[in-house]
Amino acid sequence: MIDEYDYVVVGGGSSGCVAAATLAESGARVLVLEQGDRAEETPETLRSDGYKDAFVNDRLMIERFSVPQTGCGKRKIFLGSGRGAGGSGAINAMVYTRGSREDFDAWGEGWRWDDVVPDFEAVEQKLDPRRREPTSFTETCIRAAESTGFRRKADLNDGDLSRVLGYEWMNYRGGERRNSYVAFVKDAPRPNLELRTGARVRRVLFDRGRTAYGVEYDHDGVRRTSKAKVEVVLAAGTLETPRILQLSGVGPGALCAEHDIEVVHDLRGVGANLHDHPNVTLFFRASREIDCFYPQLYGFLRLRETPGEPDSCLVFYPARSSLKEGMMRMLPAMALPEAMHNAGTAPRAMRTAISGLFERPFVERFVRNVWGIVVILGKPKSRGTLRIRSPHPLDAPAIDPAYFAESEDFDVMLKGVEAARRIAKTDAAKELGARELLPGPMGATAGGVAAFVRNNSMTTYHYAGTCALGDGPDSVVDRRLRVRGIDRLRVADASVMPIAPVAALNAPSMMIGRRAARFALEDAR
Ligand SMILES: Cc1cc2nc3c(=O)[nH]c(=O)nc-3n(C[C@H](O)[C@H](O)[C@H](O)COP(=O)(O)OP(=O)(O)OC[C@H]3O[C@@H](n4cnc5c(N)ncnc54)[C@H](O)[C@@H]3O)c2cc1C
Repeated sequence: MIDEYDYVVVGGGSSGCVAAATLAESGARVLVLEQGDRAEETPETLRSDGYKDAFVNDRLMIERFSVPQTGCGKRKIFLGSGRGAGGSGAINAMVYTRGSREDFDAWGEGWRWDDVVPDFEAVEQKLDPRRREPTSFTETCIRAAESTGFRRKADLNDGDLSRVLGYEWMNYRGGERRNSYVAFVKDAPRPNLELRTGARVRRVLFDRGRTAYGVEYDHDGVRRTSKAKVEVVLAAGTLETPRILQLSGVGPGALCAEHDIEVVHDLRGVGANLHDHPNVTLFFRASREIDCFYPQLYGFLRLRETPGEPDSCLVFYPARSSLKEGMMRMLPAMALPEAMHNAGTAPRAMRTAISGLFERPFVERFVRNVWGIVVILGKPKSRGTLRIRSPHPLDAPAIDPAYFAESEDFDVMLKGVEAARRIAKTDAAKELGARELLPGPMGATAGGVAAFVRNNSMTTYHYAGTCALGDGPDSVVDRRLRVRGIDRLRVADASVMPIAPVAALNAPSMMIGRRAARFALEDAR
């Protein structure tokens, strides 16, 4: 079966929905191919309090594991991301944060802070993000952090994130999650924009002159082709877009050849430069119930000794917000061997047991008093890779985020633990109650803290960089996000970020989706 549109967008996630809607506003006929479900089939993705349920729904999570991470005690780290309309933005914590001025200035020509702000503003007009109400917990944490040198700030989206803390903007309105699917597709339906769910793209199709003319995908058990008269736009996310490119013959030539894939264009940067924000959480027990249900309070600071931009982030985490669901998802991923985990039965049994445990009254009471400080490495120097292992689209690639491959990254995390502990030792924190549970006694020595970081660090789900924009031979897309050496193919997702912003990536991904569409429309004129 073959059909034809002006644009075919691969992936209906954070960036894909924005890109598709922006393209469709011009009157162009746009097809979005999304491998997951319609949002209406998973209503928890449409509710602002549904994020916990979404996090444990297997239909909504692409499960993956890294290769063993030397910097993390040789563990294979869980690297999930969202699947279905809205993508990761349908299951995420709804924090809407642009990042710092320095983050974008480092991306260079055409992508500096002043260049990208208008696109952020355009996204925000539809998304309508807002801050949550202060609580006694968050106000106490602010006082505690202030006494260690943080500056309280009302607006964390004005580009200045130097040693500040405050309430993050979040993309919700009342009981509704407002992600890119809701704000750009559901709220503004257009006859010329079609979202086809259950459509898993296998590869991009090229004619002999290295021009993309469509994609091949599986839908309802049928192999199909959709053609794009103007362009194919890849928005499958940092861990999928480079995989699709490599499977299509655009990537390191030797890698494609090794798997008998015809090399369309030898582009060595595809799948390189992979990075993420690893994090580790310190847990404390308060002497009273925590009156907060969302991780909404963020602090930013620089922990490297050299002067420069903020490089780390601290999140004040009420355990009652999502500890149960976090453990239901993460414990099986951490405890079970990969093969057992993938079989499904054992993780389900573990999840039921964890859920049952959390429902016991004494555990429930205990968790209500627990809070944490999540230490996030916002500017990792380490860079890893994503490489296909076979020519088959369903075979998992080798993903190496290379956590702490640069020892400096590990040192920054250790400093982050110190900074969190300093906050927990202040009078304000003591008034709340801050008996350290984790690392607790095991963190009494420097070696113990290092072991704690190594054995407990995990992803923050902020994967970036595998199709980096730039000018040099390692860049995959140019500054207008066109794939180098190929015609009519653009990338529109978090994979184009050459360096991840210090904060979180949902807002920047949507900004990128909008810019990709704008560039495509301009270039088609
Ligand atoms: C659990 C979690 C919590 C997070 N919390 C936050 C937060 O609070 N704030 C924040 O800013 N960031 C957060 N993030 C990160 C943020 O959501 C992502 O960085 C952002 O959504 C990335 O956008 P994207 O468009 O690049 O990819 P995605 O939103 O992941 O979209 C990619 C889409 O492509 C689809 N797809 C992939 N391969 C194919 C294929 N072959 N065929 C068809 N479709 C395909 C996927 O199913 C998915 O829907 C979180 C992420 C996760 C997973």
